[in-house]
Amino acid sequence: MSECRIISLAIARKKHECCHHELIDIDLQGRTITCRICNSIVDPFEWIVERARDEAFAKWQVDEHKKYLAEARRKAESARLRRAVGRVR
Ligand SMILES: [Zn+2]
Repeated sequence: MSECRIISLAIARKKHECCHHELIDIDLQGRTITCRICNSIVDPFEWIVERARDEAFAKWQVDEHKKYLAEARRKAESARLRRAVGRVR
């Protein structure tokens, strides 16, 4: 019987580790956050910090994508100009 408890705890812990607590219920009076996916009670401050990190990471990804697009456009324009100069000569 104790083996079943150990297994169920391991599964619960794994489920919690994989969950990013993206869907939450906020108890304003109790000042708690409960994840709708894994039913964990989440520390509100940690949840806010995690969302801030996610936002910073998403902003970094967008900035990197913009840099990549700008470089691709610059290369395409440079290639277009080289072709145009080649036609003139
Ligand atoms: Zn969760």
